[in-house]
Amino acid sequence: MSGKERPLLINAQDFDGLLSSLKKLGYTTYGPTVRDGAVIYDVVDSANDLPIGIGDVQGPGSYRLRRREDGALFGYVVGPHSWKRFLHPPTVKLYTISSNGKILASVENANQKMAFLGVRPCELQAIRILDKVLLEGEYPDPVYAARRKDVFLLAVNCVEPGENCFCASMGTGPEAKEGFDLCLTELLRPEGHSFLVKVGTEKGKELISSVPHRQANDDEIELASKLLALSRERMKKKIEINGLKDLLYRNLEHPHWDEVAKRCLACGNCTMVCPTCFCTTVSEATDLFLKHAERWRRWDTCFSREFSYIHGGPIRYSISARYRHWLMHKMATWVDQFGTPGCVGCGRCITWCPVGIDITEEVKQIGKRDGEVKVKVE
Ligand code: SF4
Ligand code: SF4
Repeated sequence: MSGKERPLLINAQDFDGLLSSLKKLGYTTYGPTVRDGAVIYDVVDSANDLPIGIGDVQGPGSYRLRRREDGALFGYVVGPHSWKRFLHPPTVKLYTISSNGKILASVENANQKMAFLGVRPCELQAIRILDKVLLEGEYPDPVYAARRKDVFLLAVNCVEPGENCFCASMGTGPEAKEGFDLCLTELLRPEGHSFLVKVGTEKGKELISSVPHRQANDDEIELASKLLALSRERMKKKIEINGLKDLLYRNLEHPHWDEVAKRCLACGNCTMVCPTCFCTTVSEATDLFLKHAERWRRWDTCFSREFSYIHGGPIRYSISARYRHWLMHKMATWVDQFGTPGCVGCGRCITWCPVGIDITEEVKQIGKRDGEVKVKVE
């Protein structure tokens, strides 16, 4: 698709039609829903499962849902879940070994068709990053490859940024430019609730043709672009990405790493909620009769001491070294490895850090005292 076609318009009441069509095509439909006081991602069967009229209020170390005064379907920002949990799940059984020596490799979900509804622009970039790391390298991950091969991406632009978002400065939002099958912008007007729709692929074109739609008029196109411009303006946090890699490399011994470490609990929450952190470890378990053993893969975090354990001890013993490693990887060494930063500016690590450590502020502090070396990180 050229992406230059005039956008379309569907009424919000026809959103259910999109879901039904996806299900008819064999997709399991995943999307946002409210559970335990948060917007999470799970199977959604109809628009009624979406967080209708729900927004959120976020800050460093804080997250609350709020009731909106409208019936927006996508009026929240992002919650603790990301699409990583479906493409690169928290736990995966790799294989089972029985006492007769037979090894059964696990091929779960090999034929699963998944549709992701409400993918934010920053999350599209996070998926592109995971593709690069887990699919396009020398050793593609078969679990990721099987899950990624038939995913329908229905993106929704962000017309209301959260307190912790900084996607505009990372160049990943608030408007999706590519990488989607369909991209919606939610329009809430006195004359009706609708979605402006951009078609990204033939799959998207086929889907939109299954529900009533028309070409968007000039006013609707202008409204969507005004909402996105406003969203960009209202985004309070930012990271100066130009020169950031060199700034960080110059400041490996900056005193601020130790200052962050005084607050950091090394809990690893930031890596669990991050849509791009991909590290895993493996563990084995046997049954009580020693008849069979299983090998499981699970998410790991570079904030644990064990993570860097090699022949006799961890190489990143202090929290200071572990925080530095994480931030350096996100913003500097990832660029060397994969060509882009490993951060998409979603703000989750700020919201879900129990002590409110804020990656944008920590980078700012390093920039303020660029080149100052007083404390050696061990
Ligand atoms: S580092 Fe933080 S802001 Fe960046 S992508 Fe990960 S969770 Fe989002
Ligand atoms: S930065 Fe925050 S979320 Fe991350 S390990 Fe430290 S305390 Fe936990």
